[in-house]
Amino acid sequence: MEVGQISEQGREIKARAARFIEEELWPLERDAAERGALDAERVDAARAKARAAGFSNLNMPREVGGADLPMLDLVAIEEEAGKATNGLGFIVADRGPRELLAAATPEQVERWVLPVVRGETREAWAITEPGAGSDVAGIQATAIRDGDEWVLNGEKWFVTGGDLASYYIVLVNAEGEQTLFLVDKGTPGLELAREPHFMHDPYTSKHQELRLVDCRVPEANRVPGAGGDDAKRWFSLERIMIAARCCGAAERLIDLARGWALEREAFGRPIADYQAIQFMLADSLTELAAARLLTLHAATAWDRGDDAKIVHGKVAMAKLYASEMANRVADRAVQIFGGRGYMTENPAARYYRELRVDRIWEGTSEIQRLIIARGLLKRGAAAYLDGAVGAGIGAGR
Ligand SMILES: Cc1cc2nc3c(=O)[nH]c(=O)nc-3n(C[C@H](O)[C@H](O)[C@H](O)COP(=O)(O)OP(=O)(O)OC[C@H]3O[C@@H](n4cnc5c(N)ncnc54)[C@H](O)[C@@H]3O)c2cc1C
Repeated sequence: MEVGQISEQGREIKARAARFIEEELWPLERDAAERGALDAERVDAARAKARAAGFSNLNMPREVGGADLPMLDLVAIEEEAGKATNGLGFIVADRGPRELLAAATPEQVERWVLPVVRGETREAWAITEPGAGSDVAGIQATAIRDGDEWVLNGEKWFVTGGDLASYYIVLVNAEGEQTLFLVDKGTPGLELAREPHFMHDPYTSKHQELRLVDCRVPEANRVPGAGGDDAKRWFSLERIMIAARCCGAAERLIDLARGWALEREAFGRPIADYQAIQFMLADSLTELAAARLLTLHAATAWDRGDDAKIVHGKVAMAKLYASEMANRVADRAVQIFGGRGYMTENPAARYYRELRVDRIWEGTSEIQRLIIARGLLKRGAAAYLDGAVGAGIGAGR
């Protein structure tokens, strides 16, 4: 299993991200734990500071003002993002819409992609529906052509960042094909149905439910090409980033639990002296190391431009294992802290709630297992364990 080298630039940004999180974001976490809500003004100020410090668009090509870092560097930096709760880590992992850039027309790039890169607007992906989550092929939203316009109807759920977005990237069925449309906020017929509350609240963004009712957009808003494939590329990217954040979260949890185990005394000795505690810590560290290697291995394959299907499988393994690992680590950390681990002022309690979604979003653990199993049955195990396999189609970069 091959793992590449993180670049000097990647290491430097990772170290700065770690400092930023400790100095700027952990105080916001503590404040949210005390008040039960994030302070929106302080969050906005942290976002502006992070952007000024150069943490935005690290994934975007240089031609549009990005840093064009390889996946391995991006993953290493995203690990740091996992070390903040309440979704605050996204402030230092402010990626640009590279998958949209790859699919959009030059006019769409000017109008919808570049403003995001400049920090003027934000986008949000709207794929999932009340009747279709895992089964993306089963979406029911439609776009019907009417002259130079398209008429969109349907319902989209769980649209992360919809509250902050200026436009939505919406997957619908159009003339027998899954197609992406760019729909600006405020377009007549695009309605906000609900902003439900979630287990990880207070969080830096909402997950909206949207309704499209005879929502008309011009042909210029239709993204050319196969929308379903573009959505898959976005899923793949988000999955490897989830794996990375889970590794970062687990590292923070292990350090916190270790510190407490050494400090806390019970029955006249530090609890770290008890094997029951040591074994929980040992399992956590071992599983984190394994998850990290899987994640870096997938990132290495991505950067090398291995066969997209193999990369897809490796990313699925990383996402599956890292998200399940982080949930186990959080559970053990709560246990090691005892009653204090159940207090929301303790990051362990917050992670225990927040990491749960990583086994669900961007494809549940079951869906990752399906992807892995299908690839294994078709190609055999060696394809997923080796270094370079197949020709360089790449997986989204
Ligand atoms: C906080 C949050 C944010 C999200 N953000 C976004 C977003 O920004 N944009 C977006 O489009 N979506 C978003 N989602 C949606 C998310 O991707 C879906 O919830 C997820 O893919 C699962 O779909 P579902 O909820 O419909 O569950 P279902 O597909 O209904 O699955 C229910 C259960 O059945 C299992 N299952 C389904 N099919 C199979 C199968 N073939 N074999 C075995 N088991 C199966 C699943 O694993 C799960 O356990 C978000 C979700 C959450 C919770």
